[in-house]
Amino acid sequence: MPTYAVISRPDPVSCHLKERLEKILAAQGYTRDEQIPETVLVIGGDGTFIYAVHKYIEVLDRVRFFGIHTGTLGFYTDYRDTDFEEFTADFVQGKVQEFSYPILEGKTEHETFYGINEIRVENAVRTQEMKVYLNNVLFEVYRGTGMCVSTQLGSTAYNRSVGGAVIQEGLSLIQMTEIAGIHHSKYRSLNSPFVMDGATEIAFTTSSFAGAMLGADNEVVPLDNVKRIEISVSKDKCVRMLKGRDVYYFDRLQSLF
Ligand code: NAP
Ligand code: MN
Repeated sequence: MPTYAVISRPDPVSCHLKERLEKILAAQGYTRDEQIPETVLVIGGDGTFIYAVHKYIEVLDRVRFFGIHTGTLGFYTDYRDTDFEEFTADFVQGKVQEFSYPILEGKTEHETFYGINEIRVENAVRTQEMKVYLNNVLFEVYRGTGMCVSTQLGSTAYNRSVGGAVIQEGLSLIQMTEIAGIHHSKYRSLNSPFVMDGATEIAFTTSSFAGAMLGADNEVVPLDNVKRIEISVSKDKCVRMLKGRDVYYFDRLQSLF
């Protein structure tokens, strides 16, 4: 029996769709499994989608995600609430295709984090100085508030707010963008978003990250006892997403921005 779980944003429209969806799926012989469902149906926004992926981060290889947006169109969702019938029919009738998207893995000396959108380091308390290594070669000494490393999917999220480029769907690239970098006669770093091959390994090292926070999508942790952060595309985790209708990337961008 096929298994599923529904993750929805706690607003009335999303909750109502969740109830309707669960009734339809029960009638079609689907079983609810909150632990390791074959499919996680996500009702809400891009933020809800990211929350759902983090909830199942330990079992990503066994779970796939299918989303409907209660609002606009999303970057992680191809259906709006007005398309609910089509969303349900496409799923139940198997008119969907699975695609895998790379995610970022960030490692400190103590912990591992995953970023579907981005992994960022931010110090709002004092100027953060850090060495930036690309594939183990010292690239620059950076000073400023922090740095954002994003995936293609995350290029329209925080990355875009800090002046990074939007990257077209389907390109396996990563992007490193400065967050308020300091540039004058004494301090110099690239001062431009840097789009790199997806296989690039990025490392930030410093004598102190005191006051800095590491953000992996919606998760944020202090970096007080950390001196080294390694960020690259995860070798053993990716996100499996279902797509039913074909939404052209340029239409999606045009309708959202
Ligand atoms: P959130 O409220 O869930 O998300 C903040 C906004 O970012 C929402 O409007 C969300 O869209 C949108 N968003 C998320 N992923 C996106 C993507 N890949 N492309 C375009 N828009 C996207 O906030 P959160 O839970 O704290 O953080 C989750 C993510 O939000 C982070 O990974 C970060 O990239 C982004 N964020 C951005 C800023 C900023 O730009 N200054 C600030 C905070 C967070 P929906 O309304 O569809 O959920
Ligand atoms: Mn949201």
